[in-house]
Amino acid sequence: MEQSFVAWAKMRARRLPQEKVSIGDDAAVLAATDSDLVVTTDSQCDGVHFRLGETDPRAIGRKLVNVNLSDLAAMAADPRCVFLSMCLPNQVQTNPAMATDALASEIYEGVCEALAKFDVGLAGGDTNCWDGPLSLTLTAIGQTVDNVTWLRNNAQPDDAIVVTGPLGGSILGKHLDFTPRIDLARAIRSSIPVNAAMDISDGLSVDLLRLTDASHCGAILELDKVPISDAAVQASESSNKQPIEHALGDGEDFELLLTVPPDSVQQLQQLVGEDSAIVVGSITSRTGLWAREGGKIRQLTSSGYIHGR
Ligand SMILES: [Mg+2]
Repeated sequence: MEQSFVAWAKMRARRLPQEKVSIGDDAAVLAATDSDLVVTTDSQCDGVHFRLGETDPRAIGRKLVNVNLSDLAAMAADPRCVFLSMCLPNQVQTNPAMATDALASEIYEGVCEALAKFDVGLAGGDTNCWDGPLSLTLTAIGQTVDNVTWLRNNAQPDDAIVVTGPLGGSILGKHLDFTPRIDLARAIRSSIPVNAAMDISDGLSVDLLRLTDASHCGAILELDKVPISDAAVQASESSNKQPIEHALGDGEDFELLLTVPPDSVQQLQQLVGEDSAIVVGSITSRTGLWAREGGKIRQLTSSGYIHGR
């Protein structure tokens, strides 16, 4: 539902004042005098993104920060500060011994821990109580550096498609405990001409399709080059799926997905190391998502299913 709603919302808002980049990328870009501002927001809700009774509230706070910083990294922006809004349950159903105040301060501790790692401030927010479940929203403000902004809509045919780490199985732990790729984005943005970028939040196939759709092009993934995480292998043992399907289809890896001119790949790999710049395929002028395996090219669905395999 989210993608079709986003498309509708973008159209509905088109006659309102527009920013340099508005709805449709990892973050919005607001023109400013010295360096542009980059703004993103993300919500995490009990029962949707986590289960309060099963998850450490500090880890929820850290994740809330890190998913937003990941979107800023995907735009090559430096994070500056965040705003935190909390709707707290009047009663913590899963743990009646925990007072609402204690829950709030644990979340706050997690938020501050994650912010301190990247020297980012907490500039404000809002706190409410209600009879519903815990619902958190964080808005992160970043700044562009040297006028570099990575968008989704500029991938070029023949670009190499690069991911910054192994994929799949994040549900086994990484989704709560990952490092947003701020440092990698900082290292790459000043020396590599990245044509398009986003972070992998919903799975490589679906996110790559979003990027190629935005760029009016297509992609061929080399299946034997897609880095499969140990967690993807572990998840496949009980899921009835192959590890590669987890690597293609699972969400919440929060690695970066970049497209770069093929003659920049070597420099990129020398800069950040081959393990942080893994070439998984190339951009094509033919639209659609394709997978090459053993010399055959097959169509790939956005969920990571490979037709005719
Ligand atoms: Mg994103």
